[in-house]
Amino acid sequence: MPGTVLISGASVAGPALAHWLHRYGFSVTVVERAPALRTGGYKVDIRGAAVEVADRMGILEDIQRASTDMRNGAYVKDDGTRVATLPAAIFGARTGRDDEIMRGDLARILYERTRTDVEYVFGDSIASLTPTADGSGVEVTFERGAPRRFDLVVGADGLHSTVRRLAFGPEEQFLRHLGTYLSAFSMPNELGLDREELYYAEPGRLVCAYSSAGDPAAKGLLAFRSPRLSYDHRDRAQQLALLETAFAGAGWRTARMLEAARSAPDLYFDGLHLVEMDRWSRGRVVLLGDAAHCASPASGQGTGMALVGAYVLAGELAAAGGAPEVAFARYEEEMRGYVAVNHELARKFAREMTVDSRWGIRLRHLMLRMLPHMPWKNAVAKKIAEDVQRGARAITLKDYGRPVAATAVRTPHAA
Ligand SMILES: Cc1cc2nc3c(=O)[nH]c(=O)nc-3n(C[C@H](O)[C@H](O)[C@H](O)COP(=O)(O)OP(=O)(O)OC[C@H]3O[C@@H](n4cnc5c(N)ncnc54)[C@H](O)[C@@H]3O)c2cc1C
Repeated sequence: MPGTVLISGASVAGPALAHWLHRYGFSVTVVERAPALRTGGYKVDIRGAAVEVADRMGILEDIQRASTDMRNGAYVKDDGTRVATLPAAIFGARTGRDDEIMRGDLARILYERTRTDVEYVFGDSIASLTPTADGSGVEVTFERGAPRRFDLVVGADGLHSTVRRLAFGPEEQFLRHLGTYLSAFSMPNELGLDREELYYAEPGRLVCAYSSAGDPAAKGLLAFRSPRLSYDHRDRAQQLALLETAFAGAGWRTARMLEAARSAPDLYFDGLHLVEMDRWSRGRVVLLGDAAHCASPASGQGTGMALVGAYVLAGELAAAGGAPEVAFARYEEEMRGYVAVNHELARKFAREMTVDSRWGIRLRHLMLRMLPHMPWKNAVAKKIAEDVQRGARAITLKDYGRPVAATAVRTPHAA
């Protein structure tokens, strides 16, 4: 019997779950810490099983319309000369209906699809979770709004999930650092990039600039190898100082990009981490997306796993008539293998993101330069994409039956 569900986080996993739960007849509230929908971000991939889920949700065409429509990718030398240019599909290891979209555009599509059926509360966060005395629900207090009771609570609040901390304990137990830090930010498109991504490598450091369709600005990415660093992840000045130390003296456009990072309104800085947990639920609380099993940006599958996980969790909840212990166990059963493959790939891709020696960088350049001239280039490109595709397809989607177009009762927010 469907009930009330509180979802923490309105990015990808949260609104995707809200979509399905509403269709199965649940009454859904989504609480998002940001004061409004976060429309910024970087490009993310929709591949394999996630394409199928997007199709079943009826948003595949919206995604295609908002595609980054990248044309190509290239490695550049210090003076900006392109070493090798490859078509975007090869660069992004995409095949068939796979696509790429800005995370903010995807969040907007999901939000627009659900906003009239689901209650969204922006600018608030869960402060505490307590099982009700009879075990039938969860008493939730908020940082700002009045306390409320829900049948189920879902943490779709990302790598540094508050729900995970409240239900399972400090995040340090679950985060595995992959030895690389990554920063991303908007910057002026001074290079005049037109749906193109450029990469510049130095030992242990990678610099990237790209522009996507319809965005007058460009994005910068800076990645560097490092053991775990100690810093406050809310302290922007500290993060900029770490970036400046890591990229001191780096060539190409790096100095200019560091300057842009300093004034960027959307600076992102974090380590590449996996979230590894023995279980994703406790009682009536369950985790979804990056909160449960972040595979880091290196995997290129985090968005896909968030969409697929939402489909599976909602489908299992509907199939189990809302009974959490049965649904959560089946959700994990369905998802574990898929997540394990992508965690393994994330470790590999994180190691390969930067190259340790100048010799290694020259070798990578040479291989990329030769690729378009190889008679068997399509087979090589396919081989390159094989790992990514293996991860993207590492789940067989169940058919949970035709969801009813629910007329769920909307509960007013008591804020
Ligand atoms: C630089 C970068 C590049 C990436 N590149 C790719 C890529 O190429 N391909 C790919 O597939 N994936 C990529 N990813 C990963 C992808 O963005 C994530 O895997 C995906 O967004 C996960 O979705 P999610 O909804 O689980 O979590 P998130 O997108 O992290 O969303 C969590 C949401 O919860 C909110 N929140 C946080 N705390 C609270 C709280 N206490 N209360 C309420 N709300 C809260 C946040 O504001 C946010 O809206 C990249 C990530 C980064 C950072």
